[in-house]
Amino acid sequence: MTAAAPVLEAEATIGILGGGQLGRMLALAAARLGFRCHVFAPSPDSPAFDVVHRVTCADYTDTEALDRFAGDVDVVTYEFENVPAETAAFLAARVAVVPDPTILATTQDRLAEKNFVTGLGIPTAAFAEVSSPNDLRAAVERIGRPAVLKTRRFGYDGKGQVTIKNGTDPEVAWREAGAQPCILEAFIPFQREVSVVAARGQTGVVECFDVTENEHRDHILKTSRVPAALSQHDAAQARRIAEIVAQKFGYVGVLAVEMFVLREGELLINEIAPRVHNSGHWTLDGASVSQFEQHIRAISGWPVAKPVRRGRVEMTNLIGQEVEDYRRYLDLPGVAVHLYGKTAIRPGRKMGHVTRVFDE
Ligand code: AMP
Repeated sequence: MTAAAPVLEAEATIGILGGGQLGRMLALAAARLGFRCHVFAPSPDSPAFDVVHRVTCADYTDTEALDRFAGDVDVVTYEFENVPAETAAFLAARVAVVPDPTILATTQDRLAEKNFVTGLGIPTAAFAEVSSPNDLRAAVERIGRPAVLKTRRFGYDGKGQVTIKNGTDPEVAWREAGAQPCILEAFIPFQREVSVVAARGQTGVVECFDVTENEHRDHILKTSRVPAALSQHDAAQARRIAEIVAQKFGYVGVLAVEMFVLREGELLINEIAPRVHNSGHWTLDGASVSQFEQHIRAISGWPVAKPVRRGRVEMTNLIGQEVEDYRRYLDLPGVAVHLYGKTAIRPGRKMGHVTRVFDE
């Protein structure tokens, strides 16, 4: 039995599963609204631990720690989508978990997610379920090359993906992907990648931020620009797609829908993230309300705000060593620097971001 989403008073305590930069920025937004946060995360050097009232450093399978956490908070939310189903179910039996964790079953599995999206009548890349090398051979035959083999679970930032080009041996690709349940997707020669960050409140009102254009480097988001270079018609369509997804899930909180834009303007959903999203970081400095505040408002039963953008905005991630250069952004006009407080620099690790707001 899942407790109904609550309506919180400003002194309430919000529980956050996950202690990365998204948890940290959620907690900062919550603090501004008068809430306290309790972060539950397994790693002792979780960036979110530095900015909250209380922390639990324990494994997601530690039921004693989860039980104490549930007793200390008025609602639980999460900052990452790979929360183990058992953890979410254990907590949901004790305290409201928002967004509803049953949604994770769809978004944690690329096949379930693709079936959900196509069931809504929204297009995706052509795809096929792949459970063996034989399936893969048949799928490559049907979908053609190039194609992308993706693990059904636990893929992010391009991890768990193998491109199948002319000459790639399916058997080898299957092993490279870890010989585990996968989907094969047609490779999409997209014109651009965009995302829409949407917030749905408990009353069912959905507010979308403006469509963001995303540039990846080595499969990791490098730069987001707003507004995306889309026609008004296509931008409206992208926002409509995100709203349909939020409504069909009966979602409460912030989610992001990543899309490919084809040359003719057609939009395909690539992925749904049931959480605040890197492509929405620009909202902290470039909009009247941030994605983090929208999420906190929604899960607290507060109305989501109508966001007003403050200009043309560009957000650039500081990845790995790039963070060492942060000082060069400090005195640039219109630039805000965000550092996540991570001490260990690793290649590909998101260490911070900078946002620049321009007059439109
Ligand atoms: P994903 O983890 O599915 O979001 O993929 C990460 C990135 O890989 C995307 O943002 C795209 O840049 C690229 N990518 C993923 N799937 C495809 C595809 N079917 N066709 C072309 N590029 C893709």
